Amino acid sequence: MQLSRFPRRRYTDGPTPLEPLPRLSDHLGGPAIWVKRDDLTGLAFGGNKTRKLEFLVADALAQGADTLLTTGAVQSNHCRLTAAAAAKEGLACRLLLEERVPGSYDPDASGNNFLFGLLGVERVEVVPGGTDLNARLAGMAEELAAEGRNAYVVPGGGSNALGSLGYVACARELQQQAFELGVAFDEVVVASGSGGTHSGLLAGLLGLGAGLPVAGVSVRASQAAQEAKILAHARETAALIGAPAAVEPEDVVVFDDYVGEGYSYPTEAMVEATELFARLEGIVLDPVYTGKAAAGLIDLVRKGRYERTADVLFLHTGGAPGLFAALEAFRGRLGSTHYFADTGGR
Ligand SMILES: *Cc1c(COP(=O)(O)O)cnc(C)c1O
Repeated sequence: MQLSRFPRRRYTDGPTPLEPLPRLSDHLGGPAIWVKRDDLTGLAFGGNKTRKLEFLVADALAQGADTLLTTGAVQSNHCRLTAAAAAKEGLACRLLLEERVPGSYDPDASGNNFLFGLLGVERVEVVPGGTDLNARLAGMAEELAAEGRNAYVVPGGGSNALGSLGYVACARELQQQAFELGVAFDEVVVASGSGGTHSGLLAGLLGLGAGLPVAGVSVRASQAAQEAKILAHARETAALIGAPAAVEPEDVVVFDDYVGEGYSYPTEAMVEATELFARLEGIVLDPVYTGKAAAGLIDLVRKGRYERTADVLFLHTGGAPGLFAALEAFRGRLGSTHYFADTGGR
């Protein structure tokens, strides 16, 4: 499992912090909860896609690409980080945004949408939910080829086997940090969306024989669908790295109880989790992924999934810029603080 065989760009200086969350742990009455701060990776505001892009953009450069094409939802963190990587590498960037929630696209929206423009995205195409995104990305690449350009298609969420290598690398990093801290973690809890993070981590930890299970909190798909996706992705990733251990269905754990009405729709539990992390630990989550994953973590703790003496690791995958496009979910909850005051019509 020599990751150095794969070309890689470096966007983060050293390992991300791995910190205890003593006030949150106390508040919940144990186990010890820890966080790995992958919200502090490099590129514009960081997040899990930065690790995947290290391998994907290296591949794009090796293929002589001059443009990165990718796709995501209207407030996609992945699109923001792909645009940032393109800017850093001197490549052009075009985005295909899927309006998963009807009417959710607002060209003037804040959050990641604002950053697309700031980061110099050349063109944003918006399509309705359910569009065949891979077909359209291929079409966009052909259109650019006809102009003599060379586009590289980064898959949605950066989630193919190559992108997942970013989380195989994270598995190694995490194992080394756990060793240095002298902590034997009992489980990692992570948001599970397009799946590259969950499956890369799983393939990496199994390949290392780490004996550390991963629980994914789905942000969109049903348990059965997400487990099938993670199993397939983890196997592809394991094959790419030549991992000695096979990935078995029982290694794949997904909870789908925290999605709410659907992808990106706020939930009460997400708001509570986001407030708890902010007020007890000064850590900002996001409304679409980490807020729901943390809601899952908190609920699993409350339901007694872990011994009081256990050590549970929450992987913070980033996304906080999306909070600034989701203020409505928090309105009226923050007492007299004026950060969320009503600005409508003023
Ligand atoms: C994309 C994303 C995820 C989900 O990661 P996948 O690899 O797509 O499953 C989690 N958190 C944040 C903040 C994200 O942007």
